[in-house]
Amino acid sequence: MQKLIEGHKRFLAEVFPARKSHFHLLAEGQTPKWLFITCADSRVLPDMILGTEPGDLFISRSIGNVVPVTSHDVDGVTATIEYAVEVLKVRHIIVCGHSDCGALKAALDRKSLENLPKARRWLEHVEAAFAYLLPLNPADGESAELGALIRGNVVAQLQNLKAQMPVRNAMNEGRLTVHGWYYDILTGRIEEYDEGQKKFASLAG
Ligand SMILES: [Zn+2]
Repeated sequence: MQKLIEGHKRFLAEVFPARKSHFHLLAEGQTPKWLFITCADSRVLPDMILGTEPGDLFISRSIGNVVPVTSHDVDGVTATIEYAVEVLKVRHIIVCGHSDCGALKAALDRKSLENLPKARRWLEHVEAAFAYLLPLNPADGESAELGALIRGNVVAQLQNLKAQMPVRNAMNEGRLTVHGWYYDILTGRIEEYDEGQKKFASLAG
């Protein structure tokens, strides 16, 4: 725990004083424009890869960046989506998967979930990824099969997202856009899904 305590002390001594007025403003409320749905993976740092600040991103994280389908019971992700769309009125929702995702590895190797009843049930939601498998990307090297499945999962979760009632209504009213991203840990690059062309392309151009 010492690492965290030392880190917090550094934050109080160095980071907070330099941004005091920003934090004072944020203490009154938040108006994030983006809901960012991503994996719980420790290597995905949204603010670091997007240059965003406190107050910018409303974030929902769970293993496999899952958006459960509406027919299932209430859960943290769909409740967060509802709040973000209806109360915070975010303008964009991004579903962001990432390379080397353990959740999708588990979908390929089911045995790894044998003693994890909760994770196994949660990850039933990523099964739809197989229906949206993307073509293998040679740039992924040995992980091409996994990469295709991870991207497929982004597309699958994007479909689930669009099926949520608040999302559907807000999109129809023209006040919300949804996006599917894939973040490559090795290169640092983000790819965006192009629904028309049914393929991923570099977000940075
Ligand atoms: Zn992951």
